[in-house]
Amino acid sequence: MADRKTEEWAAEEQTPNLRLSLRVKEVLHREKTPYQEMAVYDTFECGRTLFLDGTVQTTEADEFTYHEALVHVPLFAHPDPRRVLIVGGGDGGPVREVLKHPSVEEVHLVEIDRRVFEVARQYLPFNNSWYGTDPRAKVMFLDGIKYVSDLTGQIAAGKAKPYDVAIVDSTDPVGPAVGLFTSNFYAAVRRVLSPDGLMVAQSESPFVHRHVIKRVVDAMSEAWPVCRLYLGPMPTYPSGYWSYTIGSNGGDPSHPARPVPAGFQARLYTSEWHRAAFALPPFVQELMPGDAARSAGR
Ligand code: SAM
Repeated sequence: MADRKTEEWAAEEQTPNLRLSLRVKEVLHREKTPYQEMAVYDTFECGRTLFLDGTVQTTEADEFTYHEALVHVPLFAHPDPRRVLIVGGGDGGPVREVLKHPSVEEVHLVEIDRRVFEVARQYLPFNNSWYGTDPRAKVMFLDGIKYVSDLTGQIAAGKAKPYDVAIVDSTDPVGPAVGLFTSNFYAAVRRVLSPDGLMVAQSESPFVHRHVIKRVVDAMSEAWPVCRLYLGPMPTYPSGYWSYTIGSNGGDPSHPARPVPAGFQARLYTSEWHRAAFALPPFVQELMPGDAARSAGR
């Protein structure tokens, strides 16, 4: 029987009144990077778990639900994704999922914090097996906001190629991630995408971060002609229910543009799940722009 007095628990304060605690088997790493506090634990319940600034980023047990929802919805909504940009996502999981698409020729990961990538490579091998083995992936350690802003000029001058899909896998809207939740950034992303391109951004919990979802869908609707929200399970994130906001130039991202190829390895994603994820319950629908008036009339 473990001595409960000497047990170590890794806790995330999800709200001032709600914590998620994972019992720690082993502390694998702790560090203060130039951008954030980072820790990796081996936990009894969820296996290896990465924390940044005290919040769970990825766990061995449930990272697939988040990464598959974030990546496969926009990639299957696009008819032929060849070039993909990921902003954030330094734990490596989104690149792994993008590389499952045979049409993809290049995926560029732009992560501001080199140490997140290096530590994840060392301790989270389930996210990073692609590194050094798949030549389609390239990693850059830059601020995604500056990268996208510089690229808009190069694309306008015909000096760089646009992307087909952009994925924003950011930390919560604090510190260097604040600018990733703005209409200026979403408009700049739109300028680095091809005309049939689309973008997705993780947009937090419909229970705990309703103000963030509202801010993201308002900003995305300002920058893109079509803005849709979809939902998925994510057990270790606040409330266990997570949202993603997608922008497109006209195509309906709630319908897959292609079937899932035979042998495609997924544990969450199917074409049926893709369509179902856009069926928003009324308490989430009311966060969408234009719905305020409808709600007032109900
Ligand atoms: N799935 C996670 C979540 O929702 O909590 C996010 C995972 S990923 C580790 C988030 C990454 O975004 C972090 O490694 C962080 O360094 C990176 N990031 C934050 N702001 C950024 C920026 N402006 N440019 C590029 N990467 C950024």
